Amino acid sequence: MDEPVAKNRVWDKNELMDRPELENLQLYRLRQVMDRVSHVPFYHQAFAEKGVTPDDIRTLEDIQKIPFTTKADLRDHYPLGFLAVPRNKILRYHGSSGTTGRPTFVAYTRNDLDLWAHLCARFLVAGGLLPEHTVQIAFGYGLFTGGFGLHYGIEKVGAAIIPAASGNSGRQLLLMQDLQTDVLVCTPSYALRLAEVIQQEQLDRTSLALKYAHLGAEPWSEDIRTHIEKELDILAFNNYGLSEVIGPGVSGECVYRNGMHIQEDHFIVECIDPDTLEPVPPGEQGELVFTALTKEAFPLLRYRTRDIASLNPEPCPCGRTSVRMSRITGRTDDMLIIRGVNVFPSQIEQALLKIEGTAPHYQIVVDRPGSLDTVTVNVEMSPAVFSDRMSDLQALRDHIVREIQSITGIQMQVNLVQPQTLERFTGKAKRVIDNRGALS
Ligand code: AMP
Ligand code: ZN
Repeated sequence: MDEPVAKNRVWDKNELMDRPELENLQLYRLRQVMDRVSHVPFYHQAFAEKGVTPDDIRTLEDIQKIPFTTKADLRDHYPLGFLAVPRNKILRYHGSSGTTGRPTFVAYTRNDLDLWAHLCARFLVAGGLLPEHTVQIAFGYGLFTGGFGLHYGIEKVGAAIIPAASGNSGRQLLLMQDLQTDVLVCTPSYALRLAEVIQQEQLDRTSLALKYAHLGAEPWSEDIRTHIEKELDILAFNNYGLSEVIGPGVSGECVYRNGMHIQEDHFIVECIDPDTLEPVPPGEQGELVFTALTKEAFPLLRYRTRDIASLNPEPCPCGRTSVRMSRITGRTDDMLIIRGVNVFPSQIEQALLKIEGTAPHYQIVVDRPGSLDTVTVNVEMSPAVFSDRMSDLQALRDHIVREIQSITGIQMQVNLVQPQTLERFTGKAKRVIDNRGALS
């Protein structure tokens, strides 16, 4: 590797704005966007009910006078009730990857597409991307915002793109070898999968030129990052976004990789207690809420993401002045209520990753055979452990049960399964199967 450590580069000067200047810009843009959405039926009615107009927004705290927008509101105005421009101004539609029912559509004008590419360029450059790099995009290209979002961001930076799209790991690796890919773009679960295939195929690491990965679109932990970086011998950067806000480009890590810089000149972020809806202090976990300040086609105000994270306003050594968000530790809607106790899948992952001998592949199955919830965690063993004696496996299983119980407070059934038996994912992983139906 000729450049083992990413250098601290900045794409545009807005990233370094003084806080007072940045906050003035936010306030100005907030009033403007309120004006732009005032004819959208949902906002027209919501502003009227609250009796709020742009003139009432005198400080950034006044954003709390604006009502929240939720996923349910988007569903109620399906498919395009939130459009703020005529349809002939739209250049592209995308959709959220909603697991249930219809997707949520979002739309972009020409300016929106330019902005999106610009924001992706910013986080990619913050994470070491150079024009001379060759980037392989192993994200799906389609309604999902990941593929196209990153594609145009990379193009803006001037790096070369291999639009491999998701899946077909053998072909991905061939492309990586033959075109000497420097940077990989995909989900963390797919990076894990590629690392696994490299090992299975006993591929010579020196035949690859891979240096960095920009991973996002789903939750992952620091332990998973360590695993991916070790297995692939790269630096892996986290980036976050959601289609309702713009797609990828909402935030991303700089070289210090200590939280994701939120692109605050274009989005106002709030972190709230999902029950009381009051702001939580910096450093405390809460639900992230975003207001898109500069989008034209589909600007949502105070959109409740259901993603749980904390905010860090401390200055970052990279010089960017924006607030950083932590990793997403869960979603308010992926919280499992097991016999009345709140459990996040990430807690189970945390327990598993502490234990030697398990692979980073697991599946959580929730049932309610009678009136009591049961949870079974299927855990894949690493190939080395799989060949061990039965008594060792029993000890491993008991260890996992104890570890999960100490973190979640719940005793779960643990099944150790053979290597390579659980499903692998080319896009976002789906690790929870809840069979409790509508009753849950
Ligand atoms: P979609 O708009 O359907 O692609 O999904 C957006 C959702 O993906 C977000 O609301 C998050 O729940 C999740 N997501 C995206 N990026 C990340 C990330 N870096 N870490 C954790 N979750 C993420
Ligand atoms: Zn930084």
